Amino acid sequence: MSQVKILACGDVNGRFDLLLKRISNVNSANGPFEFVICVGEFFGPDAKENDKIISGEIQFPVPLYILGPCCPSTCRCYPDQPSEFTSNVTYLGKSGTLTTACGLSIAYLSGIPAKSANGSCNAFEFNSEAVDNLTGPASVSSSYVGVDILMTSVWPSHVARHSANQPVTPVPGNEEISRLATVLKPRYHFAGMGVHYEREPYRNHEVLQGAAQHVTRFVSLATVGNKQKQKWMYALSTQPLKGMTRDQLVAQPPLTSEFPYKDILLKAYERKQQDTAKKGGAQFFYDMDAPMTEEEEQERNRKRRYSGERGPVEKKTSSQPCWFCLSNVEAEKFLIVSVGTHCYLAMPKGPLAEDHLMVLPIGHIQSMVAASEEVREEVEKYRDALTLFYDARGKSLVMFERNFKTGHSQIQMIGVPKDSLRSLRSSFLNGAQAKGFELSILDKEQQVWDVVNEGCPYFSVDLPDGTRLFTRHMKNFPIHFGREVLTGPQLLDCEEKIDWRECEMPKEEQAALVKKLSKEFKKFDFSTDSDDDSD
Ligand SMILES: [Zn+2]
Repeated sequence: MSQVKILACGDVNGRFDLLLKRISNVNSANGPFEFVICVGEFFGPDAKENDKIISGEIQFPVPLYILGPCCPSTCRCYPDQPSEFTSNVTYLGKSGTLTTACGLSIAYLSGIPAKSANGSCNAFEFNSEAVDNLTGPASVSSSYVGVDILMTSVWPSHVARHSANQPVTPVPGNEEISRLATVLKPRYHFAGMGVHYEREPYRNHEVLQGAAQHVTRFVSLATVGNKQKQKWMYALSTQPLKGMTRDQLVAQPPLTSEFPYKDILLKAYERKQQDTAKKGGAQFFYDMDAPMTEEEEQERNRKRRYSGERGPVEKKTSSQPCWFCLSNVEAEKFLIVSVGTHCYLAMPKGPLAEDHLMVLPIGHIQSMVAASEEVREEVEKYRDALTLFYDARGKSLVMFERNFKTGHSQIQMIGVPKDSLRSLRSSFLNGAQAKGFELSILDKEQQVWDVVNEGCPYFSVDLPDGTRLFTRHMKNFPIHFGREVLTGPQLLDCEEKIDWRECEMPKEEQAALVKKLSKEFKKFDFSTDSDDDSD
């Protein structure tokens, strides 16, 4: 995998003209850069300046990824959900994970710590729960390695410990951010807080204990255009973790120091245990050594199963093996109908009809916007094969993707009886209108990835007449929207199946249906040699 060039910058505080100028200069001199990540506060006190972003008056030549607010006054500049401003700026949301098209995995948490770590928090704050959501998948997966980049608004506590170089101005950090960095093991951890500091890399393992792991580089950037002329922009050229060999990954650069967070995490753990003992319950805050029992792990994994379909109650999944990743040994492989080179075809657990299928990337790819050319091409191949497959059944293919509250892309493939096609387009358009949002029609030569930036949620549907509808306004988006429209009385007429959990079939029935579908799909399947199909 080749090198990827990105930029990182500190708190922008509304100084967009200056930022634009610097990005343009750096990009033409040393670019092109894939994207710019902005840590800390993006908007500033000047409403007129903020409007330049919101109205799209300023256009950045490189996509920007920004975090959420750190103070009450800038909250109003942000939409409720992750979304894209017309200025080529994507608001990632308060916290989550993202794998970019160039293969970099990013985890992010914005805001300042809430007054009570376990209580509720304001829009510009985070609590322990947000940290738990991010660390959860990593802490239960034995194959977890790390992420390429962690972005946080605030510093971790004790980050300068064991480092020969110290920050010029001491910055108080937060223990929860230290915990986050410990579990996620980022290769690069970027933070803001107005101070420039590039810590010596630190080890994520103890020397002579356990296998060697990669190092973490903590980089804090100063405020855009600061008077002290401290560094506020950082250029990085790296290879994504998933394309590196183990030797490349665990190489220990000179001046690598010891892991800085061990002591404070142990103290925090002891404190938590004392609290728990007082309350008389068992609860883990952070435990470096205690492995989960097999039952605990199974139970936890069971709860995570098919997280992508669960909707609002689910947490964002990490970039690590999930239930849809074929590399996950616990993925339910009996649901698979066909396996290609980059994608596979499987039956959903609660299908809308006996021939409802879905195409998924084999690797952990969040959406078609984030997918590589190869993945997109193979989705097209499956689409062609399924068009013929449904045609033979007197049906036409409707295909939709919801990149919203999902970690792993799932493209739903549903056959709709040909005699109901006339009402299809109006059903989607009217359905959206009834729910208070609008579906736009894409131009013929446009694809969803031409109009949506990576990391931005969207819903898109391809109809048999070639019409493609999409939206990226996900505020109040009904999670089952695609199913809801298709189950309507003029289409599949099975409104009891809107929520897949309401129509999940017993396992034996699922297996029998998959077997039947595999047999019927075989003669359309490009991934197998059809010569051996004797019947
Ligand atoms: Zn996955």
